[in-house]
Amino acid sequence: MICTSNPFGGRMRKESMTSSEQEQAHRVFIRALQHDAISCGRAGCPGPVEALDQSQTRDRIKTFELTCERCGWHTSVTGREQLMPLWDNASLELMADEHLMHQQPVCPYDDTPVVFISMPNPRRKAKYRVACFYCGRHTEMDWPPPESKR
Ligand SMILES: [Zn+2]
Ligand SMILES: [Zn+2]
Repeated sequence: MICTSNPFGGRMRKESMTSSEQEQAHRVFIRALQHDAISCGRAGCPGPVEALDQSQTRDRIKTFELTCERCGWHTSVTGREQLMPLWDNASLELMADEHLMHQQPVCPYDDTPVVFISMPNPRRKAKYRVACFYCGRHTEMDWPPPESKR
């Protein structure tokens, strides 16, 4: 369920969104990213909601436009770019391990599923680009990662 009312009663805040709205937007963002069904923001409306990826290939963070095909409810969700601190080696190894085990690795900073994209490689060595489309962190790693050769 998506609730659009403001639980803080419209108090003035520095940020345009309250933290609970932000959490909610993040949840919707992940559902859109993973092509999961999203429920309509209007109470009682069964949807379906269509999510359109508005991002360009080079965008570090993604934007999704959501439209309810039933009632026309419309909103958009965007990641929040935050590139620092970078992923450290330990979290990269963990993400690589999970990818290797066919599990879904998540970004340690925002719990968003990360994407592994295999890259063209001139040296015949496998290389992956790992990207979180919510915070925009991304990196490249050789494959298999050295730590995973067990
Ligand atoms: Zn609707
Ligand atoms: Zn992230």
